[in-house]
Amino acid sequence: MGTDMMTIEHLHQEELLSRDELHDLQLKRLRKTLKTASASPHYARTLACIDPEDIRSLDQVRDLPFTTKEDLRRGYPFGFLARDPGQMIRMHASSGTTGSPTAMFYTAGDVSFWADLVARCMHMTGIRAEDTFQNLSGYGLFTGGLGMHYGAERLGCLTIPAGAGNSKRQIKLLKDFKVSCIHIIPSYALHLFSVFRESGLDPRDLNLRIALIGAEPHSEEIRTRIEELSGMKAYNSYGLSEMNGPGVAFECRTQNGMHLWEDAFLAEIIDPKTGNPLPEGQLGELVLTSLNREGMPIVRYRTRDLTRFIPGTCACGREHIRIDRIMGRADDMFILKGVNIYPMQVEQILMSMPEVGQNYLIVLEREGFIDQMRIKVEVRDEFFEEDMRVLKGLAQKITRSLQQEILITPKVDLVEHRSLPRTQGKAERVQDRRK
Ligand code: AMP
Ligand code: ZN
Repeated sequence: MGTDMMTIEHLHQEELLSRDELHDLQLKRLRKTLKTASASPHYARTLACIDPEDIRSLDQVRDLPFTTKEDLRRGYPFGFLARDPGQMIRMHASSGTTGSPTAMFYTAGDVSFWADLVARCMHMTGIRAEDTFQNLSGYGLFTGGLGMHYGAERLGCLTIPAGAGNSKRQIKLLKDFKVSCIHIIPSYALHLFSVFRESGLDPRDLNLRIALIGAEPHSEEIRTRIEELSGMKAYNSYGLSEMNGPGVAFECRTQNGMHLWEDAFLAEIIDPKTGNPLPEGQLGELVLTSLNREGMPIVRYRTRDLTRFIPGTCACGREHIRIDRIMGRADDMFILKGVNIYPMQVEQILMSMPEVGQNYLIVLEREGFIDQMRIKVEVRDEFFEEDMRVLKGLAQKITRSLQQEILITPKVDLVEHRSLPRTQGKAERVQDRRK
């Protein structure tokens, strides 16, 4: 077993459990969760005919009803509370850009357990109490701020709550306090490193060693760029507010899939169309049941996130199941000329080309009756200054590669570095102007 496993004295013996032990613990916690959940107005209705004591095997979870984002919206604000509102000490809300909001509540026990989980993740990547940790994600309702913050403090790190944006100030903090570890949204990381360059600084000359990157889908190519530009090791971090926030699944030092903490969550992969379970290794929608939440347990939540279980055990020795990097959301897929396309397929191709800069945007438009895909691609300065022939060649190379991968001939606009709009939080990759 790797020496980066938390020792029992330190925090969590659950990290070290075998599959059999995890299985027993999950069954016990599932029954308890169902009991607790039934106290909420929503589950009092949907779980009315379920007796938790009848649950004898984990497979029986499939007989329970799903919970969807729509259910959470309908239950807004208090319909999922399993305890008196007076017992809650924290609220967060999902970043969902469409529709009405959803709110998540936490008891003191929930906040504490969540901090333990995040500390476990951070420790797994090699972060230690001696590290200085700068959190560059938005604070406020978004869980990436306080969630990572409490985890870092729990681990004992000096924690800098920098928040998102204001790159010049971020760089000053990173430098002045000799920050060694950061948490950052991948699209913002790429932007930050270009601000570094413009200020005549190289992030590789600083004290930085570990970046935790997550909150939005990103390809292996983006990770590689982040690592090369900054000299840090970058670890993928997955979470969602419906399951606390960050700390649901995290990469270990092997960087080969994210361990999903099965003492805290029961995971299924289903066919998003039929809702049926898929065989291990197949790509589908991740469904999660919280196993240790007191204030607001959630049963069989349809995350809409597409991933797969990675078969086999990890070289690190941990037996918690691994999920692959998130391919995108079931809702992200768009259909153009009858072809199903995920933005991630486009990203993988673009980001594998050295000439391509740090940002891109997919625009779906309609010309007459014909649907078109236009891809706006930022080009790195040194290539943008080349003559027209070189740029034309690059546009053709991108078009050809995309044709091969997605069978669609896009229009490619090459644009200058930093000319595409950037959001403070999660990146917007697709604009559908067909409607
Ligand atoms: P929120 O509840 O607002 O924090 O958003 C959670 C959603 O962000 C998840 O359901 C995913 O779609 C996305 N997300 C979070 N972490 C990752 C990650 N590491 N890779 C890809 N998508 C992620
Ligand atoms: Zn591992």
